[in-house]
Amino acid sequence: MFYKRRLLAPGPTPVLEDALLASAKPMIHHRTEEFNAVLKQVFQQLKEVFQTKSPVLLFTSSGTGAMEASVANLCRTDKPALVIRGGKFGERWADITKVYGIPTDVIDVPWGEAVDPALVEKYLKQKPETTAVFTTLSETSTCVAHPIKELGAVTSKTDTVLVVDGISGLGGQECRTDEWKVDVVVAGSQKALMIPPGLAMASVSDKAWKKVKESNLPKYYFSFEKHFKNIEKDTTPYTPAVSLIFALKTALDRMHAEGMDSIFARHKKLGEAMRAGAQAMGLTLFAKRPVDVGTAVNVPAGVDGGKLKKMFESDFGITVAGGQDSIKGKVVRIAHMGYMDPFDGLAALAALGMGLDKLGHKVDVGAGLGAYIRVIQGA
Ligand SMILES: *Cc1c(COP(=O)(O)O)cnc(C)c1O
Repeated sequence: MFYKRRLLAPGPTPVLEDALLASAKPMIHHRTEEFNAVLKQVFQQLKEVFQTKSPVLLFTSSGTGAMEASVANLCRTDKPALVIRGGKFGERWADITKVYGIPTDVIDVPWGEAVDPALVEKYLKQKPETTAVFTTLSETSTCVAHPIKELGAVTSKTDTVLVVDGISGLGGQECRTDEWKVDVVVAGSQKALMIPPGLAMASVSDKAWKKVKESNLPKYYFSFEKHFKNIEKDTTPYTPAVSLIFALKTALDRMHAEGMDSIFARHKKLGEAMRAGAQAMGLTLFAKRPVDVGTAVNVPAGVDGGKLKKMFESDFGITVAGGQDSIKGKVVRIAHMGYMDPFDGLAALAALGMGLDKLGHKVDVGAGLGAYIRVIQGA
């Protein structure tokens, strides 16, 4: 049987066709009125996607570049940072703060669970001098959503800023930056923003700018202040990824047309349908507080999760992700993020059932697909 290739892993994700075409346009010089006009709109439209009135800085790097930039621009070597771990990406924050010599405290959340905001509150009462709390909107390795709104309610009462890795999810997973009092949100281009890898962004609140002024860490290419000065002139400090910015402009136009509330609602529905479908097949979910943009399904006992993940690709043309570290071989992670619709998820769910069947674990594929479709239909 011939199967189309379907990219349903949590990043990179499928690219909007119009954005691909936009990125294929002939190169133009980046110090021109023509390009400044594009950037001016991009900087404006990014605020809508980030749900903020604060400036959104744009970097030529993958998402991790903007994570590192956030640490380097906000922190001091003589003041602590608090990192919420509980997955690969929470761990990355602590890896970065340690590299910069920042006294780092961590709250270790068991994989699959979300942080309890009361623990953060308690910590900040003990160490009010803490510069920042670093956490994750959608912990891609576990498909857990941390309670960002509740964390914002905690940090906003203190002098500490809340920094959220929104790389997987921003533009799909609900993130009301200003309303929830999040100070810095980091994003990457290749997840819910529907364009290829290579751009990163960070929104920076007034409260965070104060930390930027006080920071004593070295930075050059990723200097927030330098980027901000250039935004005010509708430009970037260095040669940006011009073609990707054409693509981004196209994706942002489309997101504006769909509307952020509709985008959040679509992802909520896709998540709900996937979870209902997997459970109706008799499967269980890894995340106790799941995100809308991806689902980690537990691989049933006796099934080789690595084989199942490979089978998605070799037998059905579908790329999904497996588990990492302690959950390697124990979960498959299916994304429903960005340029994806209900039929993408349906294909993934069918392949999950068919794959398990082939590996000798009988499931009721029809029951799963039926449950999925009923959620989509709103029944
Ligand atoms: C993908 C991802 C990253 C990594 O971003 P890169 O673009 O590979 O640097 C960081 N955080 C989360 C939550 C992610 O999903």
